[in-house]
Amino acid sequence: MTTPADTPPASPISTDVLIIGAGPVGLFAAFEAGVIGLSSQIVDNIERVGGQCIELYPDKPIYDIPAIPVCTARELVDRLVEQIRPFAPPLHLGHRVETVERLDNGHWLARTDKGLAFEAAAILIAGGNGSFVPQRLLLEEAVPLEGRHVHYSVPKLDDFAGKKVIVAGGGDSALDWALALRKVAQHVTLVHRRSGFSAADSSVANMRRAVEAREMDFAVGTITSLSAPDGQLQSVELRQAEGSAHLEADHVLVLFGLVADLGPIAKWGIEVQGGRITVDTSNYESTCPGIFAAGDIAGYPNKQKLILSGFHEASLALRKAYNYAFPDKKRVHIHSSYDTKLAERVAASHA
Ligand SMILES: Cc1cc2nc3c(=O)[nH]c(=O)nc-3n(C[C@H](O)[C@H](O)[C@H](O)COP(=O)(O)OP(=O)(O)OC[C@H]3O[C@@H](n4cnc5c(N)ncnc54)[C@H](O)[C@@H]3O)c2cc1C
Repeated sequence: MTTPADTPPASPISTDVLIIGAGPVGLFAAFEAGVIGLSSQIVDNIERVGGQCIELYPDKPIYDIPAIPVCTARELVDRLVEQIRPFAPPLHLGHRVETVERLDNGHWLARTDKGLAFEAAAILIAGGNGSFVPQRLLLEEAVPLEGRHVHYSVPKLDDFAGKKVIVAGGGDSALDWALALRKVAQHVTLVHRRSGFSAADSSVANMRRAVEAREMDFAVGTITSLSAPDGQLQSVELRQAEGSAHLEADHVLVLFGLVADLGPIAKWGIEVQGGRITVDTSNYESTCPGIFAAGDIAGYPNKQKLILSGFHEASLALRKAYNYAFPDKKRVHIHSSYDTKLAERVAASHA
């Protein structure tokens, strides 16, 4: 699959449809767009595709995808990625779409938080429950330290070289990063509120081995305050069963998992009710002509938050979106099984 084309361009990237969200529904939408002759670009706030399937339940089995009796959520996403390969839709990960505005030519201009811009004849919002954002440390003093001493991701391992690092969290990310950081940092302490973990057994075993070998420490407790005189982090206060402890630290890496936040979508002038975008169920168009919603974010009576419902919604939405991209052209109705160009593309993508 294509792409990271993520150097901000001078002018907007032009596309027939901008797909916001690379969850299962956004991915399938890119396939459907390709089948009916629409170009698409996909944007997602997080650094990987798959939405809830990958962030919340990658190894759980799914039984209600037509013609797939059982597959894990991760396998479903892998199959979708393979399915869209013939159309190679450019994928812009790590970009949150912040603003959407109507242009004089009737198209839409969308801008991301990292400076990308798209001009699209139509937009399909497949944003699930909103963009996934890291769950933050709920301490006032953490806010001004964010990016310098308090982190929610690790852009470069070397930034922590020779430093005293506290990794907070008990999931796979926390354990994996603590294990990786112990190789470059001066000292790593993993802090978790209990002694059990919600991480793979192998990661837990590796971590315990590393603690036994004194390559890192593990402390049970909750971070209750940060001491940062003159804006430089010095230590972290930990509440523990037996009282408080103070740990010296240059950096705190907080990996408490992700939470969904509808965020900017609520400000785009589209009708949103109860966190869902109101749509017309004949074509899944929102109250703004040319902006569509499919998947968990689409709201209508008797909506079922199921992957297969999202596939159907995206498919109908794109057929209407075609009219915005090609107002003077009659869309040719063709079943994918009769589409010789698609057959060639699929064969080429597997060559
Ligand atoms: C534990 C669990 C088990 C489930 N089991 C099943 C099952 O067995 N069968 C079934 O059919 N369904 C199941 N579901 C529901 C299913 O996962 C959802 O219906 C599906 O993920 C919805 O897909 P989506 O693409 O609409 O949204 P999501 O998967 O939520 O993806 C939305 C994506 O949009 C991105 N996004 C949002 N806003 C922006 C923005 N402004 N800019 C950029 N990106 C943005 C988000 O970061 C996210 O990656 C389950 C859900 C859970 C939590």
